[in-house]
Amino acid sequence: MANSEPTRGRAEARIDLTAIRENTARMRERAPSAALMAVVKADGYGHGMVPAARAALAGGATWLGTAFISEGLRLRQAGITARILSWLAVPGDDWAAAIQAAIDLSANAVWAIEEIAAAAAQAGVPARVHLKIDSGLGRAGTTPQEWPRVVDAALKAQADGLLQVVGLWSHFACADEPGHPSITRQLATFREAVEYAERAGVRPEVRHIANSPATLTLPEAHLDLIRAGITIYGLSPAPELGTARELGLRPAMTLAARLALVKRVPPGHGVSYGHRYVTDRNTTLALVPVGYADGVPRAAGDRCEVLLAGQRRAIRGRVAMDQFVVELGDDDAACGEEVLLFGPGDFGEPTADDWARALDTIAYEIVTRVGPRVPRVYLGAPQAEQASGIEVSR
Ligand SMILES: *Cc1c(COP(=O)(O)O)cnc(C)c1O
Repeated sequence: MANSEPTRGRAEARIDLTAIRENTARMRERAPSAALMAVVKADGYGHGMVPAARAALAGGATWLGTAFISEGLRLRQAGITARILSWLAVPGDDWAAAIQAAIDLSANAVWAIEEIAAAAAQAGVPARVHLKIDSGLGRAGTTPQEWPRVVDAALKAQADGLLQVVGLWSHFACADEPGHPSITRQLATFREAVEYAERAGVRPEVRHIANSPATLTLPEAHLDLIRAGITIYGLSPAPELGTARELGLRPAMTLAARLALVKRVPPGHGVSYGHRYVTDRNTTLALVPVGYADGVPRAAGDRCEVLLAGQRRAIRGRVAMDQFVVELGDDDAACGEEVLLFGPGDFGEPTADDWARALDTIAYEIVTRVGPRVPRVYLGAPQAEQASGIEVSR
């Protein structure tokens, strides 16, 4: 997919939907025995939740995953009929709306099962519930000590016709560090929890624990369903696992802007707030009209590069709320000329992985923080007849 259509406004995030579709197909090939849940939380990792979901469904995903019920409801409002799991809720959340919209819910604790059961009674439809065990991440999920109580509460509500336990699941802490001792411990704990639940009478449709890195490195963790997020957007879960290219993935987001000003300045000229950068010669500065309010990290000042006028150029001085400055030296650029902050690298621009490395973070953070002030422009289209996914039948 060419990313060569010039930016029309001051900035845009170009989203290559063909890349999302094909990355999803690559991940399906990595786990051929499992179904694939495309994780589209956080506005599809910044790519736009609904278009990303449709592209992933066209690439072979049959499930969608979101953190919050509100996100799952937005997918349904867009007419998407694939299975959806929304896994993070607080007391008083709109469980009934989720149940009515045929969104699967996760339960971490007995209180959640009670709220889901009450909401199902109100909705007049049984809820579809995935019980989550904390197999060692130390974040969401029931502890192994509490697991029997949660399983029992769920089975009681199931016997009352209020819910159906359709999933047993967990999440890894260190799947991006192959060989980390926690990985086999977590798998063993998960297997024991599944065995306990199945002996107690749970008949899950799906058991699932693998995120992107576990899908890439740990075939025994694929089970019935993998939950792929970052890889469907074409980014590597961790540089140690290989670059996106080495993993056969293509970054789907290109963040582009147009120069608002180009000017010549003398030596000794301070650049941006705090004058953290001062020119040491006659040089040309170019003003890029995106800033930390658009998701460009403030810490990118003096650390990251962009592609401008055929070359990588350093960001100079602090990134401000709406703008930052790039130094061109004795090269020239036209006002209005396009700058690529990051993208797939086709033209020599940095990738989101490059930005993540320079900022000591992960590419997940770079793409998810691109803000709503930056319009998304979509390239490529999913195959329409596949884009709404399987019909959900009760
Ligand atoms: C975000 C998330 C994922 C996706 O992880 P990736 O590393 O992006 O593939 C999977 N499962 C859960 C529970 C998540 O929160």
